Amino acid sequence: MPIAAPRPETWMRKTSAGLYCEPGDFYIDPSRPIPRAVITHGHGDHARPGNGHVLATAQTIAIMRARYNENAGGALQPLRYDETLTVGGVQVRLAPAGHVLGSAQIVLDYRGSRVVVSGDYKRRPDPTCAPFEPQNCDLFITEATFGLPVFRHPPDDQEIDKFLHSLTLFPERCHLVGVSALGKCQRVLALLRRSGYEEPVYLHGGLIALTELYENLGVALGPVIPATGVMREALNGRIVLAPPGALADVWSRRLPDPLVALASGWMRVRQRAKASGVELPLVISDHADWDELTATLGDVAADEIWITHGREEALVHYATKRGYRARALALTGFEEDE
Ligand SMILES: [Zn+2]
Ligand SMILES: [Zn+2]
Repeated sequence: MPIAAPRPETWMRKTSAGLYCEPGDFYIDPSRPIPRAVITHGHGDHARPGNGHVLATAQTIAIMRARYNENAGGALQPLRYDETLTVGGVQVRLAPAGHVLGSAQIVLDYRGSRVVVSGDYKRRPDPTCAPFEPQNCDLFITEATFGLPVFRHPPDDQEIDKFLHSLTLFPERCHLVGVSALGKCQRVLALLRRSGYEEPVYLHGGLIALTELYENLGVALGPVIPATGVMREALNGRIVLAPPGALADVWSRRLPDPLVALASGWMRVRQRAKASGVELPLVISDHADWDELTATLGDVAADEIWITHGREEALVHYATKRGYRARALALTGFEEDE
Protein backbone atom coordinates (compact mmCIF):
# COMPACT_ATOMS: atom_id res chain seq x y z
CA MET A 1 0.00 0.00 0.00
CA PRO A 2 1.44 3.44 -0.89
CA ILE A 3 2.39 5.60 2.04
CA ALA A 4 0.38 8.83 2.10
CA ALA A 5 2.43 11.96 1.40
CA PRO A 6 2.93 14.14 4.46
CA ARG A 7 0.67 17.16 4.63
CA PRO A 8 2.57 20.37 3.80
CA GLU A 9 1.98 21.98 7.21
CA THR A 10 3.86 19.09 8.86
CA TRP A 11 7.12 20.13 7.17
CA MET A 12 6.72 23.82 6.23
CA ARG A 13 5.82 26.44 8.77
CA LYS A 14 5.79 30.09 9.60
CA THR A 15 8.28 31.19 12.27
CA SER A 16 9.36 34.55 13.66
CA ALA A 17 12.21 34.58 11.09
CA GLY A 18 9.90 33.68 8.19
CA LEU A 19 9.01 30.48 6.32
CA TYR A 20 10.92 27.45 7.60
CA CYS A 21 11.37 24.05 5.97
CA GLU A 22 11.88 21.66 8.86
CA PRO A 23 13.44 18.55 7.21
CA GLY A 24 15.76 20.75 5.10
CA ASP A 25 16.52 23.03 8.07
CA PHE A 26 16.45 26.21 5.94
CA TYR A 27 14.44 29.42 5.81
CA ILE A 28 13.06 31.16 2.73
CA ASP A 29 13.70 34.92 2.54
CA PRO A 30 14.36 35.11 6.31
CA SER A 31 13.73 38.42 8.06
CA ARG A 32 16.83 38.06 10.25
CA PRO A 33 20.21 36.33 9.85
CA ILE A 34 19.96 32.53 10.12
CA PRO A 35 22.36 29.64 9.25
CA ARG A 36 20.74 28.48 5.98
CA ALA A 37 18.65 30.61 3.63
CA VAL A 38 17.05 30.11 0.24
CA ILE A 39 16.46 33.51 -1.38
CA THR A 40 13.78 34.19 -4.00
CA HIS A 41 15.17 37.48 -5.39
CA GLY A 42 17.40 40.47 -4.72
CA HIS A 43 14.96 43.05 -3.29
CA GLY A 44 16.12 44.16 0.14
CA ASP A 45 13.10 42.88 2.06
CA HIS A 46 13.58 39.35 0.65
CA ALA A 47 17.39 39.16 0.35
CA ARG A 48 18.86 40.38 3.61
CA PRO A 49 22.55 40.37 4.52
CA GLY A 50 24.33 38.23 7.08
CA ASN A 51 22.98 34.69 6.55
CA GLY A 52 25.39 31.78 7.00
CA HIS A 53 24.66 29.93 3.76
CA VAL A 54 22.65 31.31 0.85
CA LEU A 55 21.13 29.34 -2.01
CA ALA A 56 19.76 31.42 -4.92
CA THR A 57 20.12 31.94 -8.65
CA ALA A 58 23.51 33.24 -9.82
CA GLN A 59 21.86 36.56 -10.76
CA THR A 60 20.34 37.00 -7.30
CA ILE A 61 23.72 36.22 -5.76
CA ALA A 62 25.35 38.82 -8.03
CA ILE A 63 22.75 41.39 -6.94
CA MET A 64 23.33 40.54 -3.24
CA ARG A 65 27.08 40.89 -3.72
CA ALA A 66 26.60 44.26 -5.42
CA ARG A 67 24.45 45.45 -2.54
CA TYR A 68 26.07 43.91 0.52
CA ASN A 69 29.66 43.10 -0.49
CA GLU A 70 31.18 40.72 2.08
CA ASN A 71 27.96 40.79 4.15
CA ALA A 72 26.02 39.05 1.36
CA GLY A 73 26.41 35.76 3.27
CA GLY A 74 28.98 33.32 4.63
CA ALA A 75 28.73 30.96 1.66
CA LEU A 76 26.83 31.79 -1.54
CA GLN A 77 25.68 28.83 -3.60
CA PRO A 78 24.18 29.45 -7.05
CA LEU A 79 21.54 27.11 -8.43
CA ARG A 80 20.38 27.24 -12.05
CA TYR A 81 16.69 27.22 -12.92
CA ASP A 82 15.53 23.62 -13.07
CA GLU A 83 18.64 22.21 -11.41
CA THR A 84 17.75 20.14 -8.34
CA LEU A 85 19.60 20.03 -5.03
CA THR A 86 18.71 17.68 -2.20
CA VAL A 87 18.90 19.20 1.27
CA GLY A 88 18.00 16.96 4.22
CA GLY A 89 15.72 14.78 2.10
CA VAL A 90 14.02 17.79 0.50
CA GLN A 91 14.51 18.37 -3.21
CA VAL A 92 14.99 22.07 -3.89
CA ARG A 93 14.50 23.55 -7.35
CA LEU A 94 14.24 27.15 -8.57
CA ALA A 95 11.74 28.16 -11.26
CA PRO A 96 11.49 31.59 -12.93
CA ALA A 97 9.15 34.05 -11.19
CA GLY A 98 9.14 36.84 -13.82
CA HIS A 99 9.56 39.55 -11.15
CA VAL A 100 13.13 40.90 -11.60
CA LEU A 101 16.36 39.47 -13.05
CA GLY A 102 17.16 36.19 -11.25
CA SER A 103 13.85 36.02 -9.38
CA ALA A 104 12.77 32.49 -8.55
CA GLN A 105 9.94 30.46 -7.13
CA ILE A 106 11.21 27.89 -4.66
CA VAL A 107 9.90 24.42 -5.55
CA LEU A 108 10.20 21.92 -2.68
CA ASP A 109 9.48 18.20 -2.91
CA TYR A 110 9.39 16.05 0.20
CA ARG A 111 8.14 12.47 0.30
CA GLY A 112 5.63 12.98 -2.50
CA SER A 113 4.36 16.33 -1.27
CA ARG A 114 5.17 19.55 -3.16
CA VAL A 115 5.25 23.11 -1.86
CA VAL A 116 5.95 26.12 -4.10
CA VAL A 117 6.93 29.46 -2.58
CA SER A 118 6.28 32.09 -5.24
CA GLY A 119 8.29 34.98 -3.83
CA ASP A 120 7.24 38.16 -5.64
CA TYR A 121 6.04 37.48 -9.16
CA LYS A 122 4.16 38.70 -12.19
CA ARG A 123 2.75 36.94 -15.23
CA ARG A 124 3.10 39.48 -18.01
CA PRO A 125 6.23 39.37 -20.20
CA ASP A 126 9.21 41.43 -19.03
CA PRO A 127 12.14 41.86 -21.46
CA THR A 128 14.62 41.92 -18.55
CA CYS A 129 13.90 38.52 -16.95
CA ALA A 130 12.72 34.97 -17.60
CA PRO A 131 8.91 34.54 -17.55
CA PHE A 132 7.03 32.96 -14.63
CA GLU A 133 6.57 29.23 -15.05
CA PRO A 134 3.58 27.79 -13.18
CA GLN A 135 4.44 24.66 -11.17
CA ASN A 136 1.76 22.18 -10.15
CA CYS A 137 1.87 21.68 -6.39
CA ASP A 138 -0.04 20.69 -3.26
CA LEU A 139 0.56 23.96 -1.44
CA PHE A 140 1.15 27.27 -3.22
CA ILE A 141 2.51 30.04 -1.03
CA THR A 142 1.83 33.32 -2.81
CA GLU A 143 2.39 37.03 -2.36
CA ALA A 144 -0.61 39.36 -2.67
CA THR A 145 0.83 42.88 -2.99
CA PHE A 146 -2.00 43.85 -5.36
CA GLY A 147 -4.53 41.34 -4.02
CA LEU A 148 -7.67 43.43 -4.51
CA PRO A 149 -10.01 43.34 -7.54
CA VAL A 150 -9.45 47.09 -8.05
CA PHE A 151 -5.85 46.37 -9.07
CA ARG A 152 -5.83 45.58 -12.77
CA HIS A 153 -2.66 46.76 -14.45
CA PRO A 154 -2.97 48.03 -18.03
CA PRO A 155 -0.61 46.74 -20.77
CA ASP A 156 2.94 48.10 -20.35
CA ASP A 157 3.07 49.36 -23.94
CA GLN A 158 0.03 51.52 -23.33
CA GLU A 159 1.80 53.23 -20.41
CA ILE A 160 5.07 53.67 -22.33
CA ASP A 161 3.18 55.10 -25.33
CA LYS A 162 1.45 57.57 -23.01
CA PHE A 163 4.85 58.61 -21.68
CA LEU A 164 6.49 58.97 -25.11
CA HIS A 165 3.47 60.95 -26.26
CA SER A 166 4.05 63.39 -23.40
CA LEU A 167 7.63 63.81 -24.61
CA THR A 168 6.35 64.92 -28.02
CA LEU A 169 3.75 67.23 -26.43
CA PHE A 170 6.33 68.87 -24.15
CA PRO A 171 9.59 68.61 -26.08
CA GLU A 172 11.38 71.16 -23.85
CA ARG A 173 10.52 69.60 -20.51
CA CYS A 174 12.82 67.20 -18.77
CA HIS A 175 10.84 63.99 -18.14
CA LEU A 176 11.78 62.68 -14.71
CA VAL A 177 10.60 59.13 -13.96
CA GLY A 178 10.64 57.54 -10.51
CA VAL A 179 11.73 53.90 -10.69
CA SER A 180 13.02 51.44 -8.11
CA ALA A 181 16.72 50.66 -8.48
CA LEU A 182 16.29 46.92 -8.93
CA GLY A 183 13.96 45.81 -11.69
CA LYS A 184 11.77 48.77 -12.53
CA CYS A 185 14.63 50.97 -13.71
CA GLN A 186 15.92 48.34 -16.11
CA ARG A 187 12.45 47.29 -17.23
CA VAL A 188 11.46 50.88 -18.09
CA LEU A 189 14.71 51.23 -20.06
CA ALA A 190 14.02 48.00 -21.94
CA LEU A 191 10.39 49.00 -22.64
CA LEU A 192 11.52 52.40 -23.96
CA ARG A 193 13.99 50.69 -26.28
CA ARG A 194 11.35 48.24 -27.46
CA SER A 195 9.13 51.22 -28.31
CA GLY A 196 11.88 52.63 -30.50
CA TYR A 197 13.35 55.26 -28.16
CA GLU A 198 17.09 55.23 -28.95
CA GLU A 199 18.34 58.44 -27.28
CA PRO A 200 20.57 58.19 -24.22
CA VAL A 201 18.65 58.00 -20.93
CA TYR A 202 20.08 59.86 -17.92
CA LEU A 203 20.36 58.03 -14.62
CA HIS A 204 20.47 59.19 -11.01
CA GLY A 205 23.63 57.88 -9.31
CA GLY A 206 21.60 55.43 -7.20
CA LEU A 207 20.53 53.52 -10.32
CA ILE A 208 23.84 53.06 -12.06
CA ALA A 209 25.40 50.05 -10.31
CA LEU A 210 22.45 47.69 -10.80
CA THR A 211 21.86 48.88 -14.37
CA GLU A 212 25.50 48.07 -15.17
CA LEU A 213 25.06 44.71 -13.46
CA TYR A 214 22.06 43.90 -15.69
CA GLU A 215 24.15 44.82 -18.74
CA ASN A 216 27.01 42.63 -17.51
CA LEU A 217 24.55 39.77 -17.03
CA GLY A 218 23.45 40.06 -20.66
CA VAL A 219 20.41 42.37 -20.53
CA ALA A 220 20.88 45.06 -23.21
CA LEU A 221 19.44 48.41 -22.10
CA GLY A 222 20.83 50.89 -24.64
CA PRO A 223 22.87 54.04 -23.95
CA VAL A 224 22.68 55.48 -20.42
CA ILE A 225 24.53 58.50 -19.00
CA PRO A 226 24.96 59.51 -15.34
CA ALA A 227 22.76 62.60 -14.81
CA THR A 228 25.14 64.06 -12.26
CA GLY A 229 27.45 66.64 -13.75
CA VAL A 230 25.40 67.10 -16.92
CA MET A 231 24.60 70.75 -17.79
CA ARG A 232 21.06 71.74 -16.92
CA GLU A 233 20.23 72.83 -20.48
CA ALA A 234 21.43 69.52 -21.86
CA LEU A 235 18.54 67.83 -20.04
CA ASN A 236 15.82 69.76 -21.88
CA GLY A 237 13.49 67.21 -23.43
CA ARG A 238 15.52 64.34 -22.03
CA ILE A 239 14.44 61.34 -19.96
CA VAL A 240 15.93 61.13 -16.47
CA LEU A 241 15.35 58.10 -14.24
CA ALA A 242 15.67 58.43 -10.46
CA PRO A 243 14.65 56.48 -7.35
CA PRO A 244 11.17 57.55 -6.16
CA GLY A 245 12.72 59.16 -3.08
CA ALA A 246 14.69 61.59 -5.26
CA LEU A 247 11.65 62.95 -7.13
CA ALA A 248 10.82 65.59 -4.55
CA ASP A 249 14.21 66.19 -2.98
CA VAL A 250 16.82 68.80 -3.69
CA TRP A 251 18.44 66.61 -6.36
CA SER A 252 15.53 67.11 -8.77
CA ARG A 253 15.41 70.90 -8.35
CA ARG A 254 18.28 71.43 -10.73
CA LEU A 255 16.42 69.75 -13.60
CA PRO A 256 14.88 72.06 -16.26
CA ASP A 257 11.08 72.31 -15.78
CA PRO A 258 10.74 68.63 -14.87
CA LEU A 259 7.59 66.71 -15.68
CA VAL A 260 7.40 64.14 -12.89
CA ALA A 261 6.29 60.59 -13.70
CA LEU A 262 6.38 57.49 -11.48
CA ALA A 263 6.32 53.87 -12.67
CA SER A 264 4.52 51.76 -10.07
CA GLY A 265 1.51 49.51 -9.66
CA TRP A 266 0.35 51.92 -6.95
CA MET A 267 -0.19 54.58 -9.61
CA ARG A 268 -3.51 52.84 -10.22
CA VAL A 269 -4.58 54.75 -7.09
CA ARG A 270 -5.06 58.35 -8.20
CA GLN A 271 -4.77 59.79 -4.70
CA ARG A 272 -1.35 58.21 -4.29
CA ALA A 273 -0.12 59.83 -7.49
CA LYS A 274 -1.55 63.18 -6.43
CA ALA A 275 -0.19 63.00 -2.89
CA SER A 276 3.30 62.30 -4.19
CA GLY A 277 3.20 65.17 -6.67
CA VAL A 278 3.25 62.92 -9.71
CA GLU A 279 2.01 64.62 -12.86
CA LEU A 280 2.16 61.54 -15.07
CA PRO A 281 1.38 58.26 -13.26
CA LEU A 282 2.59 55.15 -15.10
CA VAL A 283 0.93 51.93 -13.99
CA ILE A 284 3.89 49.61 -14.53
CA SER A 285 4.18 46.92 -11.88
CA ASP A 286 6.57 44.09 -11.15
CA HIS A 287 3.86 42.32 -9.12
CA ALA A 288 0.91 40.27 -10.30
CA ASP A 289 -2.36 42.19 -10.43
CA TRP A 290 -5.66 40.68 -9.25
CA ASP A 291 -6.29 38.84 -12.52
CA GLU A 292 -2.76 37.43 -12.58
CA LEU A 293 -3.02 36.28 -8.95
CA THR A 294 -6.33 34.52 -9.44
CA ALA A 295 -5.29 32.99 -12.79
CA THR A 296 -2.15 31.63 -11.12
CA LEU A 297 -4.17 29.85 -8.42
CA GLY A 298 -5.91 27.99 -11.23
CA ASP A 299 -2.69 27.28 -13.12
CA VAL A 300 -0.80 25.67 -10.23
CA ALA A 301 -3.78 23.53 -9.22
CA ALA A 302 -2.86 23.40 -5.53
CA ASP A 303 -5.45 22.31 -2.93
CA GLU A 304 -4.04 24.70 -0.43
CA ILE A 305 -3.01 28.36 -0.65
CA TRP A 306 -1.05 30.36 1.91
CA ILE A 307 -0.72 34.09 1.39
CA THR A 308 2.45 35.69 2.71
CA HIS A 309 2.19 39.44 2.40
CA GLY A 310 0.19 42.20 0.79
CA ARG A 311 -3.63 42.42 0.66
CA GLU A 312 -4.33 38.97 1.98
CA GLU A 313 -7.99 38.96 2.98
CA ALA A 314 -9.55 39.42 -0.46
CA LEU A 315 -7.48 36.61 -1.95
CA VAL A 316 -8.23 34.30 1.00
CA HIS A 317 -11.92 35.03 0.48
CA TYR A 318 -11.68 34.40 -3.27
CA ALA A 319 -9.78 31.13 -2.82
CA THR A 320 -12.02 29.82 -0.04
CA LYS A 321 -15.14 30.46 -2.12
CA ARG A 322 -13.64 28.38 -4.89
CA GLY A 323 -12.94 25.43 -2.60
CA TYR A 324 -9.27 25.90 -1.78
CA ARG A 325 -8.01 25.69 1.78
CA ALA A 326 -6.59 29.19 2.14
CA ARG A 327 -4.99 31.13 4.95
CA ALA A 328 -3.24 34.45 5.47
CA LEU A 329 0.22 34.05 7.00
CA ALA A 330 0.76 37.76 7.67
CA LEU A 331 4.53 37.42 7.43
CA THR A 332 6.18 40.56 8.67
CA GLY A 333 9.21 42.41 7.34
CA PHE A 334 8.07 42.71 3.75
CA GLU A 335 7.56 46.11 2.24
CA GLU A 336 4.91 47.14 -0.23
CA ASP A 337 7.90 47.89 -2.46
CA GLU A 338 7.71 49.59 -5.84
ZN1 LIG B 1 10.36 42.07 -4.90
ZN1 LIG C 1 7.80 41.30 -1.71
